[in-house]
Amino acid sequence: MPKSSPPVFGSIAGIAPGHEFANRLELWGAGVHRQTQAGISSRHGGGAESIVLSGGYEDDEDWGSVIVYTGRGGRSAETTQQVADQTLTGPNLELVRNEQTGLPLRVTRKITTGHSSFYRYAGLYRVVSHWADTGKSGYRIWRFRLELLLDVVTEAEAISLASTGQNELFDSTDLMVAEPSAGYEPALRQEATILRIVRDSAVTRRVKMLHDYCCQVCGVRLHGAAGPYAEAAHIKPLGAPHHGPDVLENVLCLCPNHHVLFDLGSFGAADDGKLLGISGNLRIHKQHSLNPIFLAYQRLHFYQPNAEARVE
Ligand SMILES: [Zn+2]
Repeated sequence: MPKSSPPVFGSIAGIAPGHEFANRLELWGAGVHRQTQAGISSRHGGGAESIVLSGGYEDDEDWGSVIVYTGRGGRSAETTQQVADQTLTGPNLELVRNEQTGLPLRVTRKITTGHSSFYRYAGLYRVVSHWADTGKSGYRIWRFRLELLLDVVTEAEAISLASTGQNELFDSTDLMVAEPSAGYEPALRQEATILRIVRDSAVTRRVKMLHDYCCQVCGVRLHGAAGPYAEAAHIKPLGAPHHGPDVLENVLCLCPNHHVLFDLGSFGAADDGKLLGISGNLRIHKQHSLNPIFLAYQRLHFYQPNAEARVE
């Protein structure tokens, strides 16, 4: 395979989850992971198409359908320990691009048994979030939460798309394949999905009510045919590995724009509610105070003062 061939997002024809490969060269030859050594196969500016979990990163956590993946860099070649900080550049930044666009990522695991090892293709995953953390060795690492895409989506994997000029196919969408009708080729159908799971709870409803559905950053209030619309953003995210609580003090009422930017780390807030990364202050309601501990968590792990991300 020539090195200049464009990256291919989605699955490779004929390679189903569970497919095994003897070594990296076979994996490369099949077009599943087009790097013979690097763990991330990506194209500058185009996103990442594939990763290999080799067990080499001490901070990786693999729970099957959910993986907390450690970004690239800062690792000793000899000991595989972190010996320097990682930066949100290169392939690590390409993984963020997947998060923003919804581009799927092929995941392959290295399986080691005794003295031998092989590789097993795991399927397509989505990059759900990213954040900075301090790794086991004390250095700054970037972590990415990956979630296995559902079966309905993996059926679409049969169609491999070269990314060139076709990235918009993946933009904020999942791919689905329509049921083929007799005499017709199966059509590629796009179905928009919300990338973040909407979690509606008594707490999130209460926060929206207190703010009368006005964004706590910009004050915008959306009003649709079925009434006002706002989103509840958990400051310290729910779920592993963050385990933020679903309580009033951990929830912001935001417009969709500011919700996305908040999750991407474009802005944060100081303990007193002063916004960081953008001007202004969080709009506070007297019955809705925020816990500074959660704001500090977001600043530490998500807010990136030097990131290219910005509000314009
Ligand atoms: Zn807003």
